[in-house]
Amino acid sequence: MALRFVILGGGPAGHQAATYAARLGADVTVVERDVVGGAAHLWDCIPSKAMIATGGAMAFLRRSGGFGLVAGEGTVDLDALRRRIGGIVDRLEGATSDLLRSQGVTLNRGTGRFVGPNQVTVDTAEGPVTLDADAVLVATGSRPRIPDWAEPDGDRILTTRDAYPPRTLPEHLVVIGSGVTGVEFVHMFASLGSKVTLIVSRQQVLPAKDAEVAAALEENFLARGVALLKGAKATGIERTGSDGADALRILCGDGRVVTGSHVLLAIGSVPNVDGIGLDAAGVQLDERGFPITVGHHLQTNVSHVYVAGDVSGKLPLSSVASMQGRKIAEHVMGLHALEHRHLDYDMAASAIFTEPEIADVGLPEAEAFATGRKIRVTKVPYASSPKALIDNDTRGFVKILSDPVTGVILGGSIVGRNAAELISVIAVAVTNRLRVGDILDSLLVHPSLSELLADAAE
Ligand SMILES: Cc1cc2nc3c(=O)[nH]c(=O)nc-3n(C[C@H](O)[C@H](O)[C@H](O)COP(=O)(O)OP(=O)(O)OC[C@H]3O[C@@H](n4cnc5c(N)ncnc54)[C@H](O)[C@@H]3O)c2cc1C
Repeated sequence: MALRFVILGGGPAGHQAATYAARLGADVTVVERDVVGGAAHLWDCIPSKAMIATGGAMAFLRRSGGFGLVAGEGTVDLDALRRRIGGIVDRLEGATSDLLRSQGVTLNRGTGRFVGPNQVTVDTAEGPVTLDADAVLVATGSRPRIPDWAEPDGDRILTTRDAYPPRTLPEHLVVIGSGVTGVEFVHMFASLGSKVTLIVSRQQVLPAKDAEVAAALEENFLARGVALLKGAKATGIERTGSDGADALRILCGDGRVVTGSHVLLAIGSVPNVDGIGLDAAGVQLDERGFPITVGHHLQTNVSHVYVAGDVSGKLPLSSVASMQGRKIAEHVMGLHALEHRHLDYDMAASAIFTEPEIADVGLPEAEAFATGRKIRVTKVPYASSPKALIDNDTRGFVKILSDPVTGVILGGSIVGRNAAELISVIAVAVTNRLRVGDILDSLLVHPSLSELLADAAE
């Protein structure tokens, strides 16, 4: 009999694990209560980037004079934008469901919970169904963190899930939280025409990123009229009774007050572990509230129960969730002993879809300096690229970090147009320990922004 593999959650972690395990011969059931494709498709990666694409189109209209066109001001049609995003989500859900079906995966629509270590009950529209499992993957994702001083109403006080797009374009949006999610929402709404204030709890936006990269983004925000309130921690939100740009007062711990028409909370997420019966399975949580993992294969303390994606408490990226799902499928099916490479989270490429776009991978420059590690840093500006000139956007730079003796590429960061695409080349180099010479010896397209990578590898 084939191994029975039950997966709770059909997001990137769940559906990748399902596809791979089914290809390897498992009898797979995915339990999904909402959209196949997960929060990644419904609320996170896809709608946010679709909104940013619309903001980008508006920004392009404004600077189209640089292409020899007559520049104009676009006006956003929120209903059309909502329909566009809905259309993209529907297409992706259809494609993901079809892929699962084509691999023979059973899709069980409903909310699942453990009723024992090897049993999951699913509350479906037709009533409860109990599934027996030899292995279970918990891939239930996460949801926005709501602080006790804020009550989102989906109207003026928003989480990231209420913003695609809101009913009306905020006159003045105050974004709380200056990590990756916060800055993407600042960029998104500033591009669409809202006035935006960003509350930054430290002295730098993107506190976890390279200072030079964060400075480039701050400079761009300030040039676009975004107000940055630095070193401020929001502690409360009050309604003023007005329904204009001063409808809300956001109170900060140090006494500062900001007014705005809307607030968007972007202060992290919490794992979806409630109500899924982890105690019935014997799975323990760590002090942060994530399931304990043992070893490299994302097994919990109950060895046939695995976790993947945001609920694993590792790196909360869709790309990481997918890769975890794939690695777990290999482990469940006993393939890990062959050509298995453990997932190295330090080698995950990531991008921030702001203007300028930001992407990085591998060793952070600050960490290399802090540990005294000798590295070679080469940096070239976009302004040196013929393609950047043609594209009428010469802002930004490409930086490559390599070992000064062997030339092995250790990491890199890119700030500028198409950074999220270009970083892939450095990511492949870092993962496969390629040398700067390997990029230099590659025949790249001319004119293209990729030539910046060869220049930085000189
Ligand atoms: C605004 C925003 C933008 C983002 N943009 C990016 C980006 O551009 N790139 C990137 O790599 N990452 C991005 N992320 C992160 C990314 O969305 C997550 O890392 C990713 O969704 C995690 O995938 P997952 O499979 O763990 O969970 P999810 O995508 O959250 O899927 C979990 C699924 O489990 C289901 N579920 C939960 N409980 C149950 C249950 N009991 N029974 C049945 N089903 C259940 C849910 O309905 C959901 O469909 C973004 C995050 C946010 C907040």
